[in-house]
Amino acid sequence: MRIVFLSTSVGPLGSGIGGGVELTLRTLAAGLTARGHAITVLAPRGSTVPDLPRAVEIVQVDGALHVPSQTLDRTAKLDVPNDSVLKAMWKLARDRAASGSCDVVLNFAYDALPFVDAPLAVPTVHLVSMGSLSDEMDDAVRSALARNSRCIAMHTRAQAATFGTEVLQHAHIVLSGIDLANYDFVAQPGNDIAFVSRISREKGIDDLFRVAALSGRQVQAFGVMEDEAAWREAQVRHPQAIVHYAGFFSTRDLAARLGQCAALVMVHHWVEAFGNVAIEAMACGVPVVTYDRGGPAEIVDHGVTGYVVTPDDPTAVVAALSTISAIDRAACRAAVDAHYSASAFTERVERWLSAQATVG
Ligand code: UDP
Repeated sequence: MRIVFLSTSVGPLGSGIGGGVELTLRTLAAGLTARGHAITVLAPRGSTVPDLPRAVEIVQVDGALHVPSQTLDRTAKLDVPNDSVLKAMWKLARDRAASGSCDVVLNFAYDALPFVDAPLAVPTVHLVSMGSLSDEMDDAVRSALARNSRCIAMHTRAQAATFGTEVLQHAHIVLSGIDLANYDFVAQPGNDIAFVSRISREKGIDDLFRVAALSGRQVQAFGVMEDEAAWREAQVRHPQAIVHYAGFFSTRDLAARLGQCAALVMVHHWVEAFGNVAIEAMACGVPVVTYDRGGPAEIVDHGVTGYVVTPDDPTAVVAALSTISAIDRAACRAAVDAHYSASAFTERVERWLSAQATVG
């Protein structure tokens, strides 16, 4: 298949602003290329995509970035800038489809336009990267499904359920996956706890600081600093917490640091669609302690690869951390190898795409 990827419109690939969708897109571009497909990625200018096969074509597209939906009110109209990069990417996709140079367009942007606009000359399918956050997006997803009941893929059932029963019934669940070669297994970690996430309120920054304060464990936080005010407020509220903001790292540099940690904590307030960081940690041998909310609760095998605890209860996280050494780190790596490898993920997506594409 000749597949055009429509990237997220909130930031260039490699910036971290797009969150997990950046890694997902990269994994699929490499995986589908290895399986003989021709991939073109339309992405905002400034995108850097390391370690991709040379055959992947990256088209850098000019235009204004979009505001991430998670920062808007549910009822707010999605903001489309005048010189929107998404409009520009979508036009390129339309032109490629019309010229007969692609078989299917795979959309990664969490934005209404590709879901609701007039159909292209080839099928458009959507891998939705977040749960329901906006009434306008919910309508957009439903209207795309009404046109083609198999055009929506989601990462987990928990994510699909946030859009309602009709979407849950029709969405194709593909989970996620990573290239294990990028993550070295570490058998003997240090004592620090990891937090890997965009620094933003929906990820539970305040709960993270509470966990640090109550447990007395040092936390290393990795990720883009999106909401500095949330970080400062948490520091003031929990002066005893030792939380070190380490910064945002490339995948390999992140893995090298993450592997040294005793556990990853996930204390999110929203329904996490999947939680790539959970499988990234497990690939390094790092067990995960997560709130029982969204994708991570489907990934973590309680008592085997970490602990799934009552949401919004930092004391439950602290209790789980006290017994974290009982988790076999090799079992964490093995679980990723068995269910979340790049090749297993690519095959799940390929099966869904093949059923959609008009093969040229
Ligand atoms: N990440 C990274 N470098 C860092 C911290 C995070 O590349 O220093 C990436 C991480 O690999 C993951 C993404 O940020 O792919 C976070 O994705 P996740 O699905 O966990 O959450 P999202 O941000 O999409 O809500």
